[in-house]
Amino acid sequence: MKRINQTWTILLMLALSAMLILAGCGNGSAGATKTAEATNKSTSTEVKTAADQTTAAKNEEKTEATAGASAAGSYTPLEQLQDHYDIVIIGGGGAGMTAALEAKAAGMNPVIFEKMEAPGGNTLKSSSGMNASQTKFQAAQGIKDSNDLFYEETLKGGHDTNNKEMLRFFVDHSASAIDWLDSQGITLDNLTITGGMKEKRTHRPTDGSAVGQYLVKGLVADVQKQGIQLFVGADVKEITQENGRANGVKVIFDGSSEKTVSADAVIVATGGFGANQELIKKYRPDLEGYVTTNQPGSTGDGISMIEAMGGTTVDMDQIQVHPTVNQEQSYLIGEAVRGEGAILVDKTGSRFFNEMDTRDKVTAAITKLDNREAYLIFDSGVKSRAKAIEQYEKKGLVQSGETPEALAQTLGMPADTLQAALDKWNAAVAAKKDAEFGRDTGMEHDLSAGPYYAIKIGPGIHYTMGGVKINNNTEVLNKEGQVIPGLYAAGEVTGGLHGQNRIGGNSVAEIVIFGREAGVKAAEFVKAKQ
Ligand code: ADP
Repeated sequence: MKRINQTWTILLMLALSAMLILAGCGNGSAGATKTAEATNKSTSTEVKTAADQTTAAKNEEKTEATAGASAAGSYTPLEQLQDHYDIVIIGGGGAGMTAALEAKAAGMNPVIFEKMEAPGGNTLKSSSGMNASQTKFQAAQGIKDSNDLFYEETLKGGHDTNNKEMLRFFVDHSASAIDWLDSQGITLDNLTITGGMKEKRTHRPTDGSAVGQYLVKGLVADVQKQGIQLFVGADVKEITQENGRANGVKVIFDGSSEKTVSADAVIVATGGFGANQELIKKYRPDLEGYVTTNQPGSTGDGISMIEAMGGTTVDMDQIQVHPTVNQEQSYLIGEAVRGEGAILVDKTGSRFFNEMDTRDKVTAAITKLDNREAYLIFDSGVKSRAKAIEQYEKKGLVQSGETPEALAQTLGMPADTLQAALDKWNAAVAAKKDAEFGRDTGMEHDLSAGPYYAIKIGPGIHYTMGGVKINNNTEVLNKEGQVIPGLYAAGEVTGGLHGQNRIGGNSVAEIVIFGREAGVKAAEFVKAKQ
């Protein structure tokens, strides 16, 4: 009897581990599963350019680069590729994975093709959070916000050049997107503020950490839990068509084997072109030589593939330069650091601008300084509130001193000027009035709790606001404004929503809101055809 029990226990354990492996691999089989490695090439570039990094910092980068991957550690093996899917999704960033989840929920058989060796794209790098208004988390924290205010502030931030229909749809669907994420086990209930906003509507993970890694990890886990096939090293080269209708893709796997896969609809979620120096130069010659915060897969492939299908673009010269990027490692320092109270000073230790103004204006102010460089200055209070700073510290980007004077010495900056700037700022916080530069947000706490910290920053290419033209159904439009049947797009590959200047926290909102819509609408299209 005991022996039989033991045998059953062993069989049960074997069955359970097999189930766990299968769950982890999506549709993958244990033996044939590819293992994701530390392959985000932006990481290797960063490592190369950061000569002074410690081994610990390098290891940290490796961990971070595979944050999305390590959630499950494996993707669908090529042997499981099918000839046909209901919906092909090009790009495994935030928009692509969100679209896949909605398509699957609508009963579809979707597939994701990601050209890099791990999913996540630029989404993995996003830090500030996800903007949304009238959310349950805002209500619980007594924050009075409205979709109308979110609309107006985004429009003002974009200098009134945003696509107003898209913007209205965006703000009105922001709270439901937060709820949807929550229902997927991705909870963004910690609120902060970014430049150009008057209310706390930037939703972050509970512990206040950077949103990207948490979001990607959650989405990858959900995609795999739902058994959605996700191929990496799958570089889509062309969208195929029949009588003007998108009907599949040509994709090269692992740099060598080309396959044509047919589909009833195609969703393009390939992100922006911030890592494509040629395109940047073409549209904005003045930005030649700027560092980029983008992952190397952000090369604008989706835009050219959609143009080949007759699609059209908007705002291609609207390229956002982020004001606070560490130049040596091309590493973005999120707006939350300022949102939680940091100030900016020049190399003499003087403040020079309203730190919480919109990105374009802060960038313009820094660009006027010597060497286009400035310092974010903050205290231990900011450090404890903006968790992303731990990451920056591990990367060796943060300098510190017990007192403002000690910090100034470390930075080689006149101590009296820095001290005077801090005194003046603390008085402005107490008076709730920044008479010098008119800042009126991110002023809840002064900078008086040592030790003090600094991060040296300058501007870097960050986000391409322009892209392909879509309508609110995420259908891709041609030059005449007509829909290209079967072709959908969402996320940074699209243009119009942000106009000439994107507000921090709006890109994550965009990929979730329009990513969901793409999944839903493409599924409706496929069902109508069936
Ligand atoms: P979004 O925020 O719009 O989701 P991301 O940059 O996060 O954009 O994700 C876009 C993803 O698409 C990236 O992971 C990128 O590597 C991938 N990608 C770009 N071009 C292709 C392509 N030709 N084939 C497959 N994947 C692609």
